[in-house]
Amino acid sequence: MIGLEIKDLHVQVEDVEILHGINLIVPAGEVHAIMGPNGTGKSTLAYTLMGHPKYQVTSGEVLLDGRSILALSPEARSHAGLFLAFQYPVAIPGVTVANFLRTAINAHRKAVDPNYHGIPIPEFRKIMLEKMKLLEMDQKMGGRYLNDGFSGGEKKRVEILQMAMLEPTMAVLDETDSGLDIDALRIVSEGINTLKSNRLGILVITHYQRMLNYLKPDIVHVMVDGKIVESGGPELALQLEEEGYRGVKA
Ligand code: ADP
Ligand code: MG
Repeated sequence: MIGLEIKDLHVQVEDVEILHGINLIVPAGEVHAIMGPNGTGKSTLAYTLMGHPKYQVTSGEVLLDGRSILALSPEARSHAGLFLAFQYPVAIPGVTVANFLRTAINAHRKAVDPNYHGIPIPEFRKIMLEKMKLLEMDQKMGGRYLNDGFSGGEKKRVEILQMAMLEPTMAVLDETDSGLDIDALRIVSEGINTLKSNRLGILVITHYQRMLNYLKPDIVHVMVDGKIVESGGPELALQLEEEGYRGVKA
């Protein structure tokens, strides 16, 4: 299958099991949402997919386009087409946004062609400015140090800018809506919508349904206590917004 397949995934953090058998399929071309209360394991799933060393898979399988990715390094997963927008992006003082993005693009292209010499700067700038415009970002952002002193909204825009430039085939967006005001939420959501294609699968992790008004997920999954307890259409998100998570307890 083209897309992401998670099979009976169990994950421990510091010897405590957090995810208790997650099953999830996100086919290419679809948008799926995971909603759930705080502390339920949503970010744990995102970090596990990316291969963070702190998150230990004790059993289960994760397939991307039919290939197991669990033995791959985070870099190799990224080269395979996986992308994670972090809930809490880290700052890297000394590395500009532009340099960071150019390095990431070159690493991707070199993984495909070891003889690749690097994207020419004019071509890179053209693409970056185009994508920044899409996200209504100030051009000056390119010269600032990555996430250093950025507002919540700026950090989330830079995450989506990375996604726009790296052109992943599976994007996991962990609470990209948190910390955004109404205008920023609309701009970022519309930016994500322009990236939608039948090659791209998107897994949106969110606490609130407001971003889903824009992203219009095909399927909404509810995670409670490290398990998917219910899946349904977009109406499930509206129901949760009204009734909370009490009705869907495991
Ligand atoms: P969510 O994103 O749904 O709010 P998390 O995945 O962040 O939930 O957390 C799930 C559970 O795992 C929580 O009980 C949290 O305390 C625990 N946890 C997450 N990350 C760590 C960590 N790095 N070290 C210890 N416990 C963690
Ligand atoms: Mg989280």
